[in-house]
Amino acid sequence: MSLIDNLKDVAEVVRKAGNIDLYRRITALEGEVIDVTRENRHLQLENEELKTKLSLRALMVFRSPFWYSEGDDVPNCPRCWESDQKAIHLQGPFRVVAGNRFDCPECKECFIAERTGRLELT
Ligand SMILES: [Zn+2]
Repeated sequence: MSLIDNLKDVAEVVRKAGNIDLYRRITALEGEVIDVTRENRHLQLENEELKTKLSLRALMVFRSPFWYSEGDDVPNCPRCWESDQKAIHLQGPFRVVAGNRFDCPECKECFIAERTGRLELT
């Protein structure tokens, strides 16, 4: 039985006993418990999300000019990774005069990796 169920049972007993003041205080407490439970759930979800980001961060390796996930040869968007910690695979390479172009499907940024390894935003 949950804490809220217990409070409802206690409130019902108090209501039947006719103690209206105590009944109101218990129902107010019930509302506070619901708020705290909701906030706790929100914090648990946020904590899981942060743990996932930290795990991913530990697996990311920078090999100029891009970020790679460990054991993955497909480059990730440097803009998405460095600004939002999102590992988004780049599409490409597409051969262009200056080198290879990579496109990000998330932020729509295009990157030209020059033959020298230098990165140019387009
Ligand atoms: Zn991006």
